[in-house]
Amino acid sequence: MDLGLAQNLVKYGIIEEFFDYQGLDDEIVNKYKYFEQKFELLFADKAIQYKLKDCYFYISNKFYCNAFARSKKGYNIIGITSGYVIKMLDIFNEKYFSSLILIALINDVNILNAYADLCSMKYFDISDFMLNCSIQFTFGHEFQHILQFNSSTITIDYYESENFDEADFDIQKHAWEFDADRFASFEVLKYVFEIKRRFKVINDEVFLCMMYLGLSSIVITKIFFYFKIKDSVSPIGKVDFYTKKYLHPHPVVRILNIIEYFFENVKDSFVDLRIDIQGFLNNVLGISKIYFDSYLPKSKIMDEILLDLHMYLDEINKYNVELYDYAVNNKAIRDMLIKRGINFD
Ligand SMILES: [Zn+2]
Repeated sequence: MDLGLAQNLVKYGIIEEFFDYQGLDDEIVNKYKYFEQKFELLFADKAIQYKLKDCYFYISNKFYCNAFARSKKGYNIIGITSGYVIKMLDIFNEKYFSSLILIALINDVNILNAYADLCSMKYFDISDFMLNCSIQFTFGHEFQHILQFNSSTITIDYYESENFDEADFDIQKHAWEFDADRFASFEVLKYVFEIKRRFKVINDEVFLCMMYLGLSSIVITKIFFYFKIKDSVSPIGKVDFYTKKYLHPHPVVRILNIIEYFFENVKDSFVDLRIDIQGFLNNVLGISKIYFDSYLPKSKIMDEILLDLHMYLDEINKYNVELYDYAVNNKAIRDMLIKRGINFD
């Protein structure tokens, strides 16, 4: 977004704390520009597809990692913080993706070979692929909030952001997060398929491996957002498992929803692929665990998440069914599903 437009939008109270990165060192400018161009392109495409006007993306001046969507005075705004750019480049640095993932995948020799094939593909860069899956997810999630805002019958100013928030529980907010996560996980599947085509991947195991990596990048991103992880040494506050509490569903509830929905879509779209949900869960959570053991060696964050998933599995499934039922009966979401021709009864 250029400075003149930003100043006007700030003046009218549409955006705030605009981050003007022009004038910084070239290397830094290029980093911000990379993210800005990705998000702007995705937003422009979707705006045409969904016939939305006045869609703007901007970077806000905040050191922590967050993304947000806002609907105000008819404007549709998606934003990320300046901290998001720095954090994402750090998270998806190639140093975390060299030999580490191999260890996670070692139990399945087919996937291990597929991973080696993937790494040896000319011009294919694992960390770049993971970063772009994450961007697709973050954008898709925020864009779905924009659609939710636009489908709502009440015309008020809406704002949603992604970090942990102790605000009071509201089932509609949980259902909207549930719905936005599903939309975004499907966007990641589409992206993985696009890359599969671009690189002419014909081996099913390699394709599966790409999907595990794509899903792991979502899990990793979710955890970073939720726990506002600053760096690899600061302590992380564990959020005890809950269902009907706070502004967003607990990360384990969301992670399971995302993996299951992604899996269901793969099953429906690629009927010849031999897959099972357990294989998806084992590989995706396995990759995420190896990643966090390397990124945050002192924290047991993935162990705690895996323990929660194990201990509360029935409760998580039950709550996700409840959110699904609420979502399909929520006017804003129902109208969108009908428009997209999705069968949910
Ligand atoms: Zn959200």
